[in-house]
Amino acid sequence: MPDRLVLLGSKGGPALRPGGPWPSSSLLQIGGRSIVVDCGLGVTRGLVDAGISLKSLDLIFITHLHSDHVLELGPLIHTAWTAGLATPVGVFGPPGTGHYWRRFCQAMEFDIEIRIVDEGRPDIRDLVSISEFGEGQVVAQGGLTVSALRVEHPPVTDCFALRFEHGAKSVVFSGDTAFYPPLADFARGADILVHEAMLEEGIERLVARTGNGARLREHLLASHSFAEEAGSIASDAGVKRLVLNHLIPADDSLIGEADWTAAVRKTWNGDLTIARDGLVVGLSSAKAAAGEETA
Ligand SMILES: [Zn+2]
Ligand SMILES: [Zn+2]
Repeated sequence: MPDRLVLLGSKGGPALRPGGPWPSSSLLQIGGRSIVVDCGLGVTRGLVDAGISLKSLDLIFITHLHSDHVLELGPLIHTAWTAGLATPVGVFGPPGTGHYWRRFCQAMEFDIEIRIVDEGRPDIRDLVSISEFGEGQVVAQGGLTVSALRVEHPPVTDCFALRFEHGAKSVVFSGDTAFYPPLADFARGADILVHEAMLEEGIERLVARTGNGARLREHLLASHSFAEEAGSIASDAGVKRLVLNHLIPADDSLIGEADWTAAVRKTWNGDLTIARDGLVVGLSSAKAAAGEETA
């Protein structure tokens, strides 16, 4: 299994629009592990489209509990269970993740109980272990280490950037964050930095279209980063490749890849990927990483 990053859902925010991309979720395959990062709506479909057997679901990380990152966590695990999942799944998320999972199982109690009795399935509640994490090291197992950094995403206080390392390879996800300089140290030398991004020229049109004007604009400016700011973090960190993800706006017909590139090139000269749903970024070597392909 080649090490790779698959951007399953690339838009920021929970709303869906015809023909548009889907909310946040990614698949990171590194050191023989398949790791799901965030579970926005569409994560299950995205994994299947990426050729992943849901029965092999293994590790899931949630950066924070906004719905565009967690809405499909329960449905993903439940669907994997109905597909024959019989091995443990480790879910790592911020405080509140256990509450979400217990309430999800309660909401689905009728179906869960009936499938255990009628179809002889193992109890899904015994297959899943939830670990709530804070800043610092989250996982160290079999050569895989994962660490977390609290980022700036008000009013959410438990929102984390995540760094995944295996052997000499490392991939960092910014989580949702306003411009946050300490992220540069956290992402130091990473092969890939996946950073969220907004484009200033699209914000006013997005705000007008969504209809709760001033409050939405206020939230976006206080809690998210412009593409130029993501580029500046990548430059400070000296990463090998910057992936702009969690794009806001993601479905404005007047904004294309060239606009994102133009914005981020003001602060970043290195290898660059603008996310779109299903895009695969290689991680085998710097050379292979440049030869990305769509899936
Ligand atoms: Zn988000
Ligand atoms: Zn968020």
